[in-house]
Amino acid sequence: MAEILKIGVIGAGQMGAGIAQVCALAGIDILLNDISAERIREGLVHVDTNMGKLIERKQINENTRKAAMDRIKGTSDPHLFADCDLIIEAASESEEVKRKIFTSICPMLRKDCMLATNTSSISITRLASVTDRPERFIGIHFMNPVPRMQLVELIRGIATEDTTFEAAKGLIKRLGKTAIVSEDFPAFIVNRILLPMINEAIYTLYEGVGTVDAIDTAMRLGANHPMGPLQLADFIGLDTVLSVMQVLHEGLADSKYRPCPLLVKYVEAGWLGRKTQRGFYDYRSGTPIPTR
Ligand code: NAD
Repeated sequence: MAEILKIGVIGAGQMGAGIAQVCALAGIDILLNDISAERIREGLVHVDTNMGKLIERKQINENTRKAAMDRIKGTSDPHLFADCDLIIEAASESEEVKRKIFTSICPMLRKDCMLATNTSSISITRLASVTDRPERFIGIHFMNPVPRMQLVELIRGIATEDTTFEAAKGLIKRLGKTAIVSEDFPAFIVNRILLPMINEAIYTLYEGVGTVDAIDTAMRLGANHPMGPLQLADFIGLDTVLSVMQVLHEGLADSKYRPCPLLVKYVEAGWLGRKTQRGFYDYRSGTPIPTR
């Protein structure tokens, strides 16, 4: 398998921007794509701002930032993916969206280009089946925030070849991160355990057992979690939390995964957490204020 020199990243949200950043800092050329020029621009600003913070913490210098930013090009034209060695899809957590992306880009790619999805929960085998190269398809699940989190889950689909798996493993090593392997079951390992805990915290709020503040303080000080579960839900994005719970509920057909109706209500209101400035907390004044 040839070395990975150029990666196309689809989706320039919090995960796509983070993936672009760590790969560019590792010397890889990046094409960053999203649905609009505005979203692409926001993604590039996100990467630049994050690297500014690394400079403040003296983890990189200005030259490194400039070299990495020069390696990332935003594009709304997927035809430019023609010379990529790998595509990492990090678009919204919707099977329909991801299927459409993979179906449309395959004809534009080199035959040996590998495909990866950063999905938090959706079947790798099912996504691979819509492509013309399921043997070169793999789940590479980065954690949020990508630059800070050490873990990456690697998930093979039923047809994923060893060369694809080894190339993905090599990439994660090059990024200085630790890979673990998960079988292809709904939400894999981390989210199979984490998301039902968050959903239960939302039920605890819904049933009036505690306030937002009480629940988050309970888990920070009582279980030593670095963030409360509702704070974490806002950080992940409530639309993503709901999608993962729906995949668990449908995929495992067990009522214990039923998404909390209060979570559904927040998503329906467009209160998606930090990315929309409001979720279980309201971030608009700069100081997070509980919304319940
Ligand atoms: P996000 O909402 O911040 O970003 C998603 C981006 O995808 C948006 O900018 C959106 O415009 C773009 N998009 C939607 N349809 C597209 C299309 N057809 N083509 C190109 N771009 C498109 O979401 P995120 O948190 O970055 O999540 C992205 C993926 O990463 C999801 O699959 C999610 O499950 C996964 N993930 C999220 C987290 C997390 O904590 N948020 C952690 C690990 C993995």
